[in-house]
Amino acid sequence: MAKKIIAIDGPAASGKSTTAKMVAKRLGFLYLDTGAMYRAITLKALELGVDVNDEEKLENLTKNSVINFENKDGTSRIWMDGKDVTEKIREPEVDRNVSYVSMHEKVRRVLVKMQKRMGEENDLVAEGRDTTTVVFPHAFKVYLDADLEERAKRRFLELKEKGIQTSLKEQSEEISRRDKLDSEREQSPLLRDKDAVVVNTTHLTIEQQVDRVIQLFLQNVAAEA
Ligand code: C5P
Repeated sequence: MAKKIIAIDGPAASGKSTTAKMVAKRLGFLYLDTGAMYRAITLKALELGVDVNDEEKLENLTKNSVINFENKDGTSRIWMDGKDVTEKIREPEVDRNVSYVSMHEKVRRVLVKMQKRMGEENDLVAEGRDTTTVVFPHAFKVYLDADLEERAKRRFLELKEKGIQTSLKEQSEEISRRDKLDSEREQSPLLRDKDAVVVNTTHLTIEQQVDRVIQLFLQNVAAEA
């Protein structure tokens, strides 16, 4: 039987990751964090001293990588070549380099293939830029949106919780800058897929967002049955 796939996209700080993770947990689906895969390849390249601008070498490195996800007790861990790299892929050095790696079409092609295979083997909730368009064009698609000011507030509070000093104005400018970059980039820009159901989360709590996505998904499953 075909696997069930929910793909979630949306602008920075719209709550994609948290929502995708929680929806996956509630439905017992695999949570596929595609960004973590680009990060894992970046980490491996940095560790091996491969130039992040060398598309051929990166393509080779990606082809020779085994990436696995493990979802346990509501947490998601990622393994690269048998090593748990969950924490390491969030380090600043990876942050600084991942955009260069993800720009390469040949790297994307290999990762997209891996992601499609995961979708053939698991019911899953995928999150990431091109998951609604390129990777899982037939998924149930959700586009999470929220007003800029609300997203800035969420990011501000999130950083504050981590002890990072910033201001609302700064976050609003940063998010608006990322919106622009994300929408205008050449490779897999942020686009709202025409089939995506839009959920505006400006006035929703995270639990309400999760409920709403699950409700819409179940309605869709019922309608198709
Ligand atoms: O979601 P996260 O911030 O972990 O993603 C890290 C980076 O991976 C993004 O900034 C982007 O460059 C890349 N990415 C991508 N396509 C995806 C997911 C992530 O290019 N589907």
